[in-house]
Formats: sequence, C-alpha cells, structure tokens
Amino acid sequence: MKGNERMPDFDFDLFVIGGGSGGVRAARMAAQRGARVALAEVAAMGGTCVNVGCIPKKLYSYAAHYADAFEESHGFGWVGNAPVLDWELLKTNRAREIARLNGVYNQLLNSSGVKIITGWATLRDGHTVQMDQQTFTVKTILIATGGTPTVPAVSGREHVVTSDQMFDLTPFPQRLLVVGGGYIACEFASIFNGLGASVTQVHRGEKVLTGFDDDVRQFIAAEMGKTGVTLQLNSEVAAITKTAEGLQVDVKDRSGGTSRLLADTVLYATGRVPNTNGLGLEAAGVALNAKGAVEVNAHYQTSLPSVYAIGDVTARLQLTPVALGEAMVVVDHLLGALTGKKPRSMSYEFVPTAVFTHPNIGTVGYSEADARQKFGKVSVYRSEFKALKHTLSGSAERTLMKLLVDDASDRVVGLHMVGPDAGEIVQGFAVAMKAGATKAVFDSTIGIHPTAAEEFVTMREPVA
Ligand code: FAD
Ligand code: NDP
Repeated sequence: MKGNERMPDFDFDLFVIGGGSGGVRAARMAAQRGARVALAEVAAMGGTCVNVGCIPKKLYSYAAHYADAFEESHGFGWVGNAPVLDWELLKTNRAREIARLNGVYNQLLNSSGVKIITGWATLRDGHTVQMDQQTFTVKTILIATGGTPTVPAVSGREHVVTSDQMFDLTPFPQRLLVVGGGYIACEFASIFNGLGASVTQVHRGEKVLTGFDDDVRQFIAAEMGKTGVTLQLNSEVAAITKTAEGLQVDVKDRSGGTSRLLADTVLYATGRVPNTNGLGLEAAGVALNAKGAVEVNAHYQTSLPSVYAIGDVTARLQLTPVALGEAMVVVDHLLGALTGKKPRSMSYEFVPTAVFTHPNIGTVGYSEADARQKFGKVSVYRSEFKALKHTLSGSAERTLMKLLVDDASDRVVGLHMVGPDAGEIVQGFAVAMKAGATKAVFDSTIGIHPTAAEEFVTMREPVA
C-alpha cells in the first residue's frame, strides 16, 4: 500500500484472522491509519488473554489473595471469622466482567472502522480468504490465531481438563491435581490452593519453571510449599482412572517409586500448541516449522509474501504484551508509507515477565546460568528477607531479590524477584535495564522507604 492509494481490486487491504491480543491490536491500528480492514473471529472477541488467560486468571488470583489477607489481618488487630468463598458468585462476577470486555473489544474495532466477520476463516491462497460460503480478496493477510493447550497421550486422558475449563468448574474442586511445572501449572496450583482446594502439583523435572533463574525456581517451590501446595517433583502420571471416590491418579517417580492420589479435577498444564490446523496454510504455501508454528522473518512475513503472522501462532514468547508489540511493528511495516513511519523491528531482549504464583515472580533479563554463559564474569547480588508486613501478619512468607551484573560493562543484565507484587515492581526496573542501566546507576538511585523494592538499589556486596 503506497500513500493514500487504494487497491480497488481487493475487498480489503488487510484481513486479520483471529481476534485475540495481537489480531485486535493490529486491526485497530491499521484501520486507524486508513487501511480497509476485516477481522475474522470464530469465538469470543479478545482471544485467550481476555477469555481464558491473563484477565480471568488474575481476577481469580486476586480472589485467592484475600484468603491470606483475612488470615493476616488478625495480627493487625482485626478480630472475627474470615468470610467463606462463594465460588458460584466469583464465577458469575468474572463472567460478567469478561462479557463487558468482549463488548469493549467489539466496540473498539467497530469505532475504528474494522469490519468484524464472525466465523472460521481459511486461506485459499495468499490473496483469498474463505469463510463459510463467502470469499474475500485481500491484499495482505495477518494470521493471529493463537494457540491451544496440549495434553500428552496418557491412559485416562479423557478425564482431564486444561486451563480453558478451569474458570468454570462445577463444583469447586476440593482436591486438585495439577500436572506440569510451567507458568500455568504453578499459577493455577497457587490460585486454587488460595481459593481453598487441596492441591498436589506433579512435575516431571527436578525444579519447576524451566528457563527461569535456578534460585528463583528453588525459592518459589519452597514458598508454594509453605502456602500448602504439595509438590511432587521428578514424577510423571502413569494413568488416570475414574472411581466412585474420584479420579484415581497413579504417579511414578524417577527412582521407580509409585503413588496413588485421589482428585476431583486433574488439570494438565503441559504447554500449548500453535493454532495452525484447518487454516489451509500449507496448501496455500505458508511454511510451518518443526513445532507446527508459522515461520516468519524479522518483519513477521511468512514464506508466502502477502501473508504475515504474529503472536502465539508463531510459538516464540507467548505473552500478551509481546503479541501487542509485534502487532504494532507489523502494522508500521505494512502501512509505514501511509504514516511516514520507518519500518522497525522488535527487540526480544529484556522482555519482563511475571508468574502470578503466590507469592509472585517478576523477572527481566538473564538467569544466572545464562548470564555466565553469555558474559563470562558476572557478579551476583542477592537478598532474602521477611517483608515488614509479615512482622505482624504471622505469615512465614519470605522475599527473594537478585541482581546479575556483567563485570566487564557493569551493566545489570538480570533482575529477579519472588515476593508480593513482584510483577508491579519489576516493570519499572525493566525500563532501566532496556536503557542499559549499570550497577553504579542502581547504587546512585535513592530508595523509597519503607518498601521491598528499595532493596534493589541498596544491595552493595556481591555474594558471588
Ligand atoms: P489469542 O489471544 O489466542 O487469539 C487468537 C484468536 O484467534 C482466538 O480468539 C481464536 O478463537 C481465533 N481463531 C483461531 N483460529 C481462527 C480461525 N481460523 N478463524 C477465526 N478465528 C480464529 N500472557 C501474559 O502476558 N500475561 C499473563 O498473565 C498470561 N496469562 C495466561 C494465562 C493462561 C491460562 C493462558 C492460557 C495464557 C496466558 N498468557 C498470559 C498468554 C497470552 O494469553 C497469549 O500470549 C496471548 O493471548 C496471545 O495472543 P494471540 O493474539 O497470539 O492469540
Ligand atoms: P509451559 O511451556 O510454560 O510449561 C509446560 C510445562 O509442562 C513444563 O513444566 C513442561 O516440563 C511440562 N510438560 C511438557 N510436556 C509434558 C509431558 N508430556 N508430560 C509432563 N509434563 C510435560 O506451558 P504452559 O502451558 O504453562 O503455558 C504456555 C505459555 O503461556 C507459557 O509458556 C507462557 O508463555 C504463557 N503464559 C504466560 C503467563 C504469564 O505471563 N503469567 C501465564 C500463563 C501462561 P519441562 O519444563 O520439563 O519441559
């Protein structure tokens, strides 16, 4: 698309498949810049994050934190019994808020001039999209179809649920077994434990949260244990059987031991696969990689030049802000000439992330192991403490903070926290790290007292 030139030989300039985080952002931005845009969505507007991901998960995490707050309030002089959870009321209130957000997303798209088309879209070729009996000709196609939970082959697989079903379980699962050690497994184990379930988490590895800093991995496992989650590491589920007492789960550990557990619900949180099936991608000539994800270049262009892809369907960093960032880059790339913006690429360095376990994890930059591998000589600053609040609350929760500094440049290359509001705290530090802040800059920054965050600017002596 050049200048304000229109392409009358196409029905649309841009056709977005998928109304999730990435698709909605790209469609709105492109339409606001004058492109004729259509967006196809087969389910509820907003995609994974809004409907069965970040937002309902965080609402339930808030709900779960109240249990601690009621308990801890006694140390601060509050007397009386804690209220009990009405699970049906929580579900209803969550559903109402999500429905409101679906409406907001629809409204934002409509007011930007995006044509919303409800249904399943497939590619016929690089310039033709098929939906039911309708065919649309388009200059550019953007695939933003996201991903879906995947459950490995296991005997009794038909009895398990994935994160998609967790928000609307009936009745509340008093005994929950969670399989996996990633983001979703740890978050849901924490949240349902907080809401009152008795939770066992079975993970095949030695530590949860592969890829995170080892200290963080160890620390969060201990903290989750203190809150009541039973963690079975080095263990795999052998079979799930439905019995009169509930779901019977046979677990094998790496040393050959076996155990048998009973659960009301078994949640498999063993990763997600890109939604590339049934889209006509391969027939149209869009190459997929070994993971079944759409392969893209630095401009999110696929092997078929008129087709682009962003977000979870490319199976890289599966985070909403990453999908949003990619959407904005791809729109600038496609419509740069309309706005005078130069094409740019997105940096995947120092992407901050949080895991909404209880307590939270916030992290940005390299783990200690990765930093040592990349930079060689690295200084480690580490602080572990009981937060001021817990001097009266009675809670045994502890906080971990860790900084990794590249000795050659003095640049802070890793920042990790396990503790209340870690995600909120780390977001600000991520800006400093993107800007290349050195340890000397951290040291010259005045703290805010009394907070936990001030510890990040007062760590003076390396521990390694
Ligand atoms: P999606 O949001 O998945 O949207 C894809 C859309 O495409 C869907 O609505 C789907 O219905 C539609 N679609 C698919 N195929 C077709 C078709 N052929 N035709 C029409 N429509 C189609 N990320 C964070 O940053 N923070 C969090 O706290 C967080 N929590 C999460 C919790 C859970 C339980 C899960 C599962 C994910 C979480 N994520 C979180 C990840 C985040 O939700 C995803 O990275 C993000 O939603 C990806 O956006 P997307 O646009 O790529 O795809
Ligand atoms: P993850 O990839 O984070 O974790 C998958 C887990 O399942 C790992 O512990 C993995 O073990 C284990 N696993 C994989 N296959 C098997 C198997 N066959 N048997 C037993 N265990 C298995 O995926 P999630 O499903 O937790 O989440 C998907 C993505 O969604 C995340 O990576 C993240 O990007 C995003 N997300 C982000 C959130 C946030 O920002 N707060 C919250 C939730 C999701 P191993 O480590 O040994 O490979």
